[in-house]
Amino acid sequence: MTTEVISGKNIKKISPVFGQFSFKDHEQIVFCNDKDTGLKAIIGIHNTVLGPALGGTRMWQYASEQEALNDVLRLSRGMTYKSAITGLNLGGGKAVIIGDAKTQKTPELMLRFGEFVHGLGGKYITAEDVGMATSDMDLVRTVTPYVTGISQDKGGAGNPSPITAYGTFMGMKAAAKYAFGNDDLENRVIYVQGIGNVGEALVEHLSNEGAKVFISDINQDRLEEVRGKYSVEIYTGNNIYAEEMDIYAPCALGATINDTTLPQLKAKVIAGAANNQLADEVKHGELLRERGIVYAPDFLINAGGIINVYAELENYGRQEIIRKTENIYTTTLEILETAEKSDITTHFAALSIAQSRIDARKAEKA
Ligand code: NAD
Repeated sequence: MTTEVISGKNIKKISPVFGQFSFKDHEQIVFCNDKDTGLKAIIGIHNTVLGPALGGTRMWQYASEQEALNDVLRLSRGMTYKSAITGLNLGGGKAVIIGDAKTQKTPELMLRFGEFVHGLGGKYITAEDVGMATSDMDLVRTVTPYVTGISQDKGGAGNPSPITAYGTFMGMKAAAKYAFGNDDLENRVIYVQGIGNVGEALVEHLSNEGAKVFISDINQDRLEEVRGKYSVEIYTGNNIYAEEMDIYAPCALGATINDTTLPQLKAKVIAGAANNQLADEVKHGELLRERGIVYAPDFLINAGGIINVYAELENYGRQEIIRKTENIYTTTLEILETAEKSDITTHFAALSIAQSRIDARKAEKA
C-alpha cells in the first residue's frame, strides 16, 4: 500500500504492482493462466537495453502468488546485472511456474508455457532453473525458438549446471585468494547448502581440490547419493549458519543471508551459486562488510550457466564457454578489491559496474 498526497489530503492508494519496491524498474510482467493444463506462470522482463531478456524458468510450490511474484521480480532483476557484468549482450528476465515440479509438471503444461513465451516474440528467452531439466527445454523448443539450454544431441549447449558450478568454483577461489591470500582450497572447511544440479557439481570440484566439504540438503536421498560419490561429510546439525567454517556456499534457494542468519554466521567467505542470497541487498551487504565477511556477489559468480546458454545464441563453442567462465576469477578479484578501495559493499561494487555498462549502451542508443 502506498500513500499519496492529493489536494492536501493523505489518500491511501492501493498499488499492489507498481508500488512494489522490487517492481520499480521492470519493463514488463506477464501473467500466464491456462485452465486446461493448470498452468499459472509469471514472466518477468526487467530490462532489455543490452539485448533480449534471458533467464531460466523456475517451478516451485510457492506459499502464495505474492511470493511467486516477489521471486520473479527479484530473479529477473538479478539476470539483468548478471549478463551485464559478464559482458553478454542480454537483458534480464525470468519466469516462475507455480506448482510442484515433481507432481504437476506435465508435457502439456510445459508446451502451453512455451506458447506463452513464443507470444512475446523473442523479447524473453527462457532456459532451465530450479525444477526444470534439459528435457523440459527440448519440449518447449518444439513450440518456440525462444528457448536455450537445449540438449547437446539437439544442437544445444546442454545442461548449464556443471558450467555454473565451475564458475562458482572460480569465484570462490578468487574470494579465497582475497580473504586468505591463497586460492588453494585444500583443507578449507566448506559447507555446501543444497546439493542439486549445481551443488553436486561444485562438490566435485571442491573434493578434487582436497577441501573439507560438508553437505546439507532437505532431500535425504540426495545426501546419501552425493556422499557415495565424493569425499564429503553430511552435515547432521540443525543450524549450518552457526558452524565454524572457512566458506559458506549457498546453493539452494535465495535469501539465506538475512536478519536471523547473519548475526550467527562464522564463515569468513560466502561464495555460492544460489540467486539472491542477500534477503536485503543493501542492509545485509553492509552488515557483511561491517563484520569483515567476504561476500562474492552471487550474480557475478553464478554466471557460468548464462555463459553456457548464450553460446547457443552466439554460436560459440566449448573453449569460449570455458574461457568466459574462468574469467569470473579475475572479475571477482577485481570487484572485491574495488569494493575495498571505494569503501562500498562488494554487491554494490558489482552492481555499479553492471549498471554503467547498461547506461553506456542506453546512451549510445539515444
Ligand atoms: P536444484 O533444484 O537442482 O537443486 C536445489 C537443491 O537445493 C535441491 O537438492 C533441494 O533439495 C535443495 N534445497 C532446497 N531447499 C533447501 C534448504 N532449505 N536447505 C538445503 N537444501 C535445500 O537447483 P540448481 O539448478 O542446482 O540451482 C541451485 C541454485 O543455483 C538456485 O538458487 C538457482 O537459481 C541457482 N542457479 C542455478 C543455475 C543453473 O545453471 N542451474 C545457474 C545460476 C544460478
